[in-house]
Amino acid sequence: MDVSIVVPLFNEDESLPELCAWIEKVVSDHQLSYEVILVDDGSTDDSWAFIENKSRENPHIKGIKFQRNYGKSAALNEGFKAAQGDVVITMDADMQDSPDEIPALRKMILDEGFDMVSGWKKKRYDNTLTKNLPSKLFNAVARANSGIQLHDFNCGLKAYKRKVVKSIEVYGEMHRYIPILAKGSGFRKIGEKVVEHRPRKYGVTKFGWQRFVNGFLDLATILFLGKFGKRPMQFFGLLGTVFFLIGLGSSIYLIIAKLVSVDFSLTNRPGFYIALTTMIIGMQLFLTGFMSELIARNAPERNSYLIESTAGL
Ligand code: UDP
Ligand code: MG
Repeated sequence: MDVSIVVPLFNEDESLPELCAWIEKVVSDHQLSYEVILVDDGSTDDSWAFIENKSRENPHIKGIKFQRNYGKSAALNEGFKAAQGDVVITMDADMQDSPDEIPALRKMILDEGFDMVSGWKKKRYDNTLTKNLPSKLFNAVARANSGIQLHDFNCGLKAYKRKVVKSIEVYGEMHRYIPILAKGSGFRKIGEKVVEHRPRKYGVTKFGWQRFVNGFLDLATILFLGKFGKRPMQFFGLLGTVFFLIGLGSSIYLIIAKLVSVDFSLTNRPGFYIALTTMIIGMQLFLTGFMSELIARNAPERNSYLIESTAGL
């Protein structure tokens, strides 16, 4: 199969008919063998009824439905599990992403050897103040921390080699940082293509202001997991040791000062309390490190690496 098109959707029944018709037109114009995987993330409108009808009429269009709303990341993750195409393309259901980009994205994966290509909404049709500015900030932080030179990490329109989507797990709100997940799994050839972005024609955006808070916290998680996920003690242990030593050093200094001079009052000095607290925090960080090692050691994916081999090894 040439291409799988994965579309996460939540209450998009107005857009779906046009979207499906458009995708069908593009793949038939380019004679691609394809599947469209519509992942209904617990819609409460008529999206699922449409998908059921549509998939009867065209067996290339397939549907997966969640019983309730789990989020875009979960929807993408299920779509990735089901995808069978050599190239997997994701796009939003609201027609802000154009299906016309599919052939060119597929070409970049096949002919230019990219593991994944991310769309870049260079000219964006969203509200400037609430979306475009914060998004610029996010992208700058993500770029600086991950070393991946993308302008638009969170673009819904992306293309992947099949093995990339099979080796990453998208959960929580991590759909914003899939390039970082891919890089973490060892896929380094990550490209970018300027794509056409369109104003939302039907329905409303599904993400409110919470996207900014959650987005930053998730970025912190992802960077931490990528670096220390398998060796948490090296992070917590180092931090704990530094804290403990600072606390211990200050305490020893205060004790000596007390021994040397009789009218030196320990309890009158803020430094005394700070030293104690620092030692306690140090110990706690150390113990957190041990706990994290125990958890990491029991994780089922502790030895999950993606391998290739010759002669069926
Ligand atoms: N979406 C989803 N589950 C959610 C929220 C959104 O599957 O909980 C889908 C939504 O239907 C759309 C895509 O994710 O296809 C992008 O959402 P939206 O257009 O609301 O985001 P924006 O373009 O405003 O960033
Ligand atoms: Mg949108």
